[in-house]
Amino acid sequence: MTMVYPEWIWHNGAIKPWADATTHVMSHAIHYGSSVFEGIRSYDTPKGPAIFRLTDHNRRLMASARIYDMPMPYSVDQINAACREVLKKNDLGKAYLRPVAFRGLGGFGLSADTPTDVAVAAWKMGAYLGDGVLEEGIDACVSSWQRFAPNTIPAGAKAGGNYLSGQLVAREARRLGFGEGIALASTGLLSEGAGENLFLVFDGALHTTPISAALLNGITRNTIMALAREVGIPVVERDIPREYLYLCDELFMCGTAAEITPIRSVDGRQVGIGRAGPVTRRMQELFFGLFNGKTEDKYGWLEYVDA
Ligand code: PMP
Repeated sequence: MTMVYPEWIWHNGAIKPWADATTHVMSHAIHYGSSVFEGIRSYDTPKGPAIFRLTDHNRRLMASARIYDMPMPYSVDQINAACREVLKKNDLGKAYLRPVAFRGLGGFGLSADTPTDVAVAAWKMGAYLGDGVLEEGIDACVSSWQRFAPNTIPAGAKAGGNYLSGQLVAREARRLGFGEGIALASTGLLSEGAGENLFLVFDGALHTTPISAALLNGITRNTIMALAREVGIPVVERDIPREYLYLCDELFMCGTAAEITPIRSVDGRQVGIGRAGPVTRRMQELFFGLFNGKTEDKYGWLEYVDA
């Protein structure tokens, strides 16, 4: 994915030119993966640009820091404000935002009490898994790499180091010619995609893997569950063995970056009709309806940039 760098970035409390938002090569995070981050999208809505579930994302950022006992020098409100400021300063409407907090420079060794640096960047981003995938779907494969076992690396934290696993899964999939990889948990049961949660459709009901299956408790996953239940689509969270990927009527991935991406084949086997099925399309309609005004924003998920 090519990336056009915007001009301004928020770094440790101030807006700076992109080129000045640098860190030292001896920062703890570079050596030990000790960062926590978020991925958030903003959309142009009929009432102006809005950041989707901004507060929920930045609360999860705090939760990730808490899991790693990383002091956070800013509050959720302050990071929310930084997100709004970065969008405004760069004149961005529809964009992807990346708050990141990491153990910085000062002291060394695994348990060093390093200061926490915080930054927020934002840039324009289209469909994460490629042009046209939201309609056509992607070809996925089950990875030869499993997710981390319980009580090793906490899957519930969105920490930089976790994405070493995601990189193995995603890079293997791309190398083999697939759009994305799906990982199994250490139990051998389904976990999630390299950077997305999974939904399978059976007889009109949505089935998704539970948080005990080494996955990130996704905010898009939570959104889909709430929207589905409102319109009477049953949602089941349960352990799912791998072979059900080959038996479901429909399959899709979801996440802030991936939004709702249909999966048209897994391991070379066509899923359903080989493109987005009716339940997937309905969920896309409800989800994207939040941003074009067709779905009521019942829960105050749209946090306007100019609030
Ligand atoms: N799982 C992983 C590993 C992810 O990186 C992401 C994207 N942040 C998700 C699931 C989806 O989470 P969310 O919907 O909160 O973006």
